[in-house]
Amino acid sequence: MSTKFSFSVSAVDGQARTGVISTPRGEIRTPAFMPVGTAATVKAMMPESVRATGADILLGNTYHLMLRPGADRIERLGGLHKFMNWPRPILTDSGGFQVMSLSGLRKLTEEGVTFSSHVDGSKHFLSPETSMEIQRKLGSDIVMCFDECPALPATEAEVATSMRMSMRWAQRSRDAFGDRPGHALFGIQQGGVTRELREESAEALRAIGFDGYAIGGLAVGEGQEAMFGVLDYAPGFLPEDKPRYLMGVGKPDDIVGAVVRGVDMMDCVLPSRSGRTGQAWTRRGQVNIKNARHADDPRPLDEHCSCPACSQYSRAYLHHVFRSGEMISGMLLTWHNLHYFQELMAGLRGAIAAGRLGAFVAEFESQRAEGDIEPLTVERG
Ligand SMILES: [Zn+2]
Repeated sequence: MSTKFSFSVSAVDGQARTGVISTPRGEIRTPAFMPVGTAATVKAMMPESVRATGADILLGNTYHLMLRPGADRIERLGGLHKFMNWPRPILTDSGGFQVMSLSGLRKLTEEGVTFSSHVDGSKHFLSPETSMEIQRKLGSDIVMCFDECPALPATEAEVATSMRMSMRWAQRSRDAFGDRPGHALFGIQQGGVTRELREESAEALRAIGFDGYAIGGLAVGEGQEAMFGVLDYAPGFLPEDKPRYLMGVGKPDDIVGAVVRGVDMMDCVLPSRSGRTGQAWTRRGQVNIKNARHADDPRPLDEHCSCPACSQYSRAYLHHVFRSGEMISGMLLTWHNLHYFQELMAGLRGAIAAGRLGAFVAEFESQRAEGDIEPLTVERG
């Protein structure tokens, strides 16, 4: 196994690439989808089940883990991998995004952000230096720079000011991270939906030098068209020989569109969160399992899916356990959703390798356009 962090592209198709990120904790096949394990668990899933869906890497949230159970405690208990029983690669975010979206009273200065915990109101401070220290204690394989995400809506001038501070913070993150063989530090491109700012940000990051580059500040409510508009040029400003990570994306069609535009890694709470609210994602679009049409339906959610929810249970059962508030409902639907997302990634990787991504995308779109299978007409005697 590799003792270093490295990335190699094995095939390209248009802007899309497929390859492998090698780390001492295992390989990450790209394009990769990272399930989110916010509080040291992918909710409703055992780690070995997450692995069985095809996940090579998980995302952990620095903000949540630093507040509860605390980075020092996780370090004393042997690090996040051991703590949560996931021996494979883990990427941690910097905490910055969630400080802005979740915490109470906060004060932002050039030095960093002081905020109060949403758990117990206690005071905390996050800066490039403290974020690097916390992510080191967690034992993260891929560490993210501490950056600032401006609250939307923001003017172009506000986005520019925020982006330039994030670039100064990127340099401080790089300095604080130091030299840690086998661990990677990713810079984060900002700049909103303005091409010149995206280019300026990318140049600043390239001058510092990172092991990978994220495209930040998207999937925050701007809509798919605006996001794809940025992705038409933003990945091209980043180095070709390093992984490109689109943070917080997304729905299956967002993922396909991002991969087509040259993105290598993504993460999203969507498959697990939807699984707990009765929403299933299938190759034929979204299925709302709580709808009455499923109550008498003995057919699987997706007859082509090999996950436990589809191979061992009926729509009628999935409907019943959701309506009854049974825990197995969230477990089965989360498993199915994660399985579907990973199958989609495997399909994209195979299509890029075979040089038939265009045909794959056309098939993906036509299956979704068909919509869910027709409801059954039930004869009641
Ligand atoms: Zn399934």
